[in-house]
Amino acid sequence: MTNTANTTAIACNVNSVEALTPGISRVVLSPEQAAGYQAGQYLQLVLSADDKRPFSIASIASSKLLELHIGTPAGDTWSSAALTHIEQQFRAGLPVMAEIGLGQAQLRQDSKRPVILLAGGTGFSYVYAIAQALSAANASQPVFLYWGVRHEEALYYQTELQQWASQNKQFRFIPVVQQPGTAWQGRTGLVHEAVLADFVSLEAYDIYIAGPFAMAGVAREAFAEQGAHREHMFADAFAYI
Ligand SMILES: Cc1cc2nc3c(=O)[nH]c(=O)nc-3n(C[C@H](O)[C@H](O)[C@H](O)COP(=O)(O)OP(=O)(O)OC[C@H]3O[C@@H](n4cnc5c(N)ncnc54)[C@H](O)[C@@H]3O)c2cc1C
Repeated sequence: MTNTANTTAIACNVNSVEALTPGISRVVLSPEQAAGYQAGQYLQLVLSADDKRPFSIASIASSKLLELHIGTPAGDTWSSAALTHIEQQFRAGLPVMAEIGLGQAQLRQDSKRPVILLAGGTGFSYVYAIAQALSAANASQPVFLYWGVRHEEALYYQTELQQWASQNKQFRFIPVVQQPGTAWQGRTGLVHEAVLADFVSLEAYDIYIAGPFAMAGVAREAFAEQGAHREHMFADAFAYI
């Protein structure tokens, strides 16, 4: 289910497209008019009237620019068609059209409950926006950001997150690698299982989830069994599964 409050497509100039990893690109868009959205919402890139593709907005509204992280794994056509469209418009000096400010899984600004952010792969884009918004609001509650990837090379913002964690005692960053190389010394396995291992009860937490739909579904059920309240778990993936 989407928030339809702001679904008029806005023209956005493409400022840059750069590789974060061989399979993930960072796209920066500059909307031609004010784009209202909340941290944790997504936009739909309009490829045609019948073909609109959702991407989480990694930036927060105080930035005038929109940052996207687009994964194009081998064999994928869904995201790569969207990226190809953006690159073509960029090269031609033309804007892309986007419906901005969609979704129901945005940060609950008024909640003072401690926060768990669970990201699988490029689901990181969503939790990054929420972490930035909490930081910008000087939120005092503890924040635990879990980021699960298949290989450690996909932790493209690891250095920045480690820096945040070293500067803020309330912010913890826990990267979890599913298929680690021999040099990896951190957590391993599936990312939601790391959360289950770390918390005896999830009852007190607001939990924000983004990543593969299979992960979102498995995490929701496992977290509920470990005490999480369903009304305190947020993910736009829930509308799709
Ligand atoms: C509203 C919305 C917004 C979206 N935004 C974006 C976006 O900004 N960018 C984008 O590229 N795509 C986006 N998508 C598409 C989709 O969500 C992503 O393609 C997906 O999250 C990509 O995952 P990945 O391949 O990076 O993760 P993977 O590399 O497949 O997995 C990463 C980690 O997730 C966990 N995991 C994966 N599968 C399972 C499983 N079956 N069970 C348990 N844990 C598992 C593991 O810990 C794994 O290491 C969006 C979709 C919707 C509906």
